[in-house]
Amino acid sequence: MPSARDAPVIAALGAAAAIGLGSETFVASKPVQAESSPALRGAGAAAAASTWGGSSRTLAAGAVATAAVVGRGALLRRRATAVKKKGVRVVEGKEIPWNLFSPKAPYEGSCISKETITSKTPLVNWETCHVIMDHGGKVPYIEGQSIGVIAPGPDKKGETPAKIRLYSIASSAPGDDESSKTVSLVVKRVVEVAGRGWCEYSNVEKGKDPEFPDAEKVYRGVCSSHICDLNAGDDVLITGPTGAEMLLPEDPEANMIFMATGTGIAPFRSHLRNLFHDKVSKGKFKGCAWLFLGVPYSESLLYDEEWKEMQAEFPDQFRYDYAVSSEEKSEKNKINGEMWVQHKMMEYGEDLWQLVKDPKTHIYMCGLKGMESGFAECFQEKVEAEGMDYKEYLKQMKKDKRYHVEVY
Ligand SMILES: Cc1cc2nc3c(=O)[nH]c(=O)nc-3n(C[C@H](O)[C@H](O)[C@H](O)COP(=O)(O)OP(=O)(O)OC[C@H]3O[C@@H](n4cnc5c(N)ncnc54)[C@H](O)[C@@H]3O)c2cc1C
Repeated sequence: MPSARDAPVIAALGAAAAIGLGSETFVASKPVQAESSPALRGAGAAAAASTWGGSSRTLAAGAVATAAVVGRGALLRRRATAVKKKGVRVVEGKEIPWNLFSPKAPYEGSCISKETITSKTPLVNWETCHVIMDHGGKVPYIEGQSIGVIAPGPDKKGETPAKIRLYSIASSAPGDDESSKTVSLVVKRVVEVAGRGWCEYSNVEKGKDPEFPDAEKVYRGVCSSHICDLNAGDDVLITGPTGAEMLLPEDPEANMIFMATGTGIAPFRSHLRNLFHDKVSKGKFKGCAWLFLGVPYSESLLYDEEWKEMQAEFPDQFRYDYAVSSEEKSEKNKINGEMWVQHKMMEYGEDLWQLVKDPKTHIYMCGLKGMESGFAECFQEKVEAEGMDYKEYLKQMKKDKRYHVEVY
């Protein structure tokens, strides 16, 4: 459930902006629960330990631990699940890169580029940056994972360096330049100002904040400021990769519903570039993906052009809708009448419900806490109208590994 301080932010998400949707609807197969858990896409299996990534791309380079995995004999590979390997985790029978770099021994990467990809809005925390970092091929990851970043600090209690913060990876395994040597993040700069929304803490001396010199209190996020202030060539300490919640199923015919609020778009950019953009993987996916993005203002839309290009190229496989809460209304929202991401989804109620019921469909949510209740707002009634218990239905979806949530 969202906390009281999340409320204004959640309230700021959503709102429909009618965009050019194709008339096609996804074909959903029979509405029954899957009998077995779907396997994961990519992520070299024990029997194919030399390939990692949704793109099934052989890694050119890797950490020592990676090298240890690659090139082992067939016998050892068969026993892979029984042997605990450093830098690898077995998830649903597949090996994926895992914590190759720890907080005590992080990878020293560098910033290739940093770009502010939103424009100013009335919100003090309007800025979101797209950052591309060089990992020299040493921090391989698969789509849906996260990395940690260690800022120089000082942290909340004065610690230097600061404790790690996790960030969902926003690039596909080959990276934005498809060299397998870069990783991209989409990071919102945390700024809290007294009198301009929630602000409990302060880490800027009164009167010294360049943007808000008159404010009683200003708090600037330790790690998000570090990342959003990076310049090309600056060092970045990276840990990980980690995370198995947001991985894609292996079935190329699976369908995906991606629900994102704000920077929750990160893992979906990673997946969508894998499915519809990268040379190595484009064209292999045979299912459908439907992205719903919620932001507070149209200036806050993230990667809008990329989605529109994908939609133009794959009109039968990719749908994209967004909700801009401060600019559009929905009568479905009984709290404040704004269009939040779930209210946008409700506009496609029956189509989406058929898709959700398809055992080949996976639901992914990423972004604000409270997104799960948004999903319930959309589908609980539909589940119950078919004589099922919502809690049981969710339990079954989780058991089938087709309900994925990463909120922060
Ligand atoms: C799996 C995962 C993926 C994530 N992915 C992304 C992503 O893709 N993009 C993104 O932007 N973020 C992401 N995050 C969030 C990210 O990890 C950071 O939490 C975020 O960037 C804020 O970090 P910060 O250091 O800038 O803020 P902090 O400095 O950590 O501040 C965070 C909050 O702590 C409060 N605070 C300050 N002092 C105190 C105190 N003494 N006691 C209690 N509270 C205090 C502040 O008021 C502020 O609201 C993700 C988180 C997780 C867990």
